[in-house]
Amino acid sequence: MKSNTITAEDLIFDKEHIWHPYTSMQNPLPVYPVESAQGVRLKLSDGREIIDGMSSWWCAVHGYNHPVLNKAVEDQIKNMSHVMFGGISHKPAIELAKLLVQLSPEGLDKVFFADSGSVSVEVAMKMAMQYWFTKGQQEKNKFLSIRSGYHGDTFNAMSVCDPVTGMHEIFTGVLPINHFVTAPQCDFYDEWDAKDIFPMKKAIEQLHNELAAIILEPIVQGAGGMRFYHPQYLKEVRLLCDKHDILLIVDEIATGFGRSGKLFACEHADISPDIMCVGKAITGGYMSFAATLANKKVSDGISQGAPGCFMHGPTFMGNPLACAVGVASINLLLESDWKAKVDTIEAILREELKAAEDLSQVADIRILGAIGVIEMKEAVNMASIQKQFVDSGIWVRPFGKNVYIMPPFVISEKDLRTLCQSMIEVVSLQ
Ligand code: PMP
Repeated sequence: MKSNTITAEDLIFDKEHIWHPYTSMQNPLPVYPVESAQGVRLKLSDGREIIDGMSSWWCAVHGYNHPVLNKAVEDQIKNMSHVMFGGISHKPAIELAKLLVQLSPEGLDKVFFADSGSVSVEVAMKMAMQYWFTKGQQEKNKFLSIRSGYHGDTFNAMSVCDPVTGMHEIFTGVLPINHFVTAPQCDFYDEWDAKDIFPMKKAIEQLHNELAAIILEPIVQGAGGMRFYHPQYLKEVRLLCDKHDILLIVDEIATGFGRSGKLFACEHADISPDIMCVGKAITGGYMSFAATLANKKVSDGISQGAPGCFMHGPTFMGNPLACAVGVASINLLLESDWKAKVDTIEAILREELKAAEDLSQVADIRILGAIGVIEMKEAVNMASIQKQFVDSGIWVRPFGKNVYIMPPFVISEKDLRTLCQSMIEVVSLQ
């Protein structure tokens, strides 16, 4: 096998030439060289093995180097790694689309394959706009979203991220102008407070003539704040969209495939959107891939009017390698009693994270499914806390005030308890 050894020289090159996510090129934060990954452990070049608390940003639900997923990729490589999707189809795409149609909320039976989560959000927003254009309602081209949301790094996606916590504040003046209402205040576990929907209701009543769609993350708001809101809120949004003839786009990129305790977080509210984005865990973390699902109303609306087709078609659309590993990953999930695993993770998170409740540094603790969040009173110092996590044998990457974990579903009870205890120990040192 090719050596993966990372030398000191490699790291100097990395520092000088390679951009890392949200990182300065002049004064970059340190990066930790990972040479291999197995199960829930990342192996660093100095020989240390650390427990992964992040699933590589929600993706690696089955852990790393999984024999079933490896085999799916190897088999597909021998067949064909890629072929254009224009005018061509193939078995992996058909199999993956079948699974997505079968498993997703009712009615979402048209599948558009995209290269990444952000692209699938672009596609969803473009679909919504084209839907109204073909109906001759060009004025319905704006979007309404909720604060504390996050939908990706491309321009339309940025325009519906929280303008402040969504990480794209600097671009405010040049982004498409969309609308926001305050984030839902009623927590997932609170009793429903009917007033929570009032800001959304009011905005829809005022703006519906110019709105193509509402776009939001269902139940779990991820990178914009790590918040969990009440399912009734989502139900009410669906009803309001129906009443005022607005499409509903739900971004399940982080929540999809079991993370919140349901296969899709929409199921907490028992709703089906008009358009839904999935990504991240779709390939079990093997490669970048996503899909935008739409219902017949949307696909008919787009296809009936000029130019008669949806105007999008990226080069790597429906990439067979990604589709093949997607099929393998979803089947593995379905065969794995994922629900019991996520419920067990949730129960252990509840037991273990309780210990952080009394820490003076901690403002709040939130748990849902296989997601555990410790919200600090102050933003953490990334460079120092990251080193402390690694030194204590775990991989946790906080942002702002949120120190959070969403481990691979295959994590053992022992590793999960170690992960939580070490996380709290580090938090207590801040
Ligand atoms: N939507 C949500 C809810 C996300 O969490 C993310 C990624 N953090 C995205 C969209 C963007 O996905 P990607 O990074 O694959 O472009």
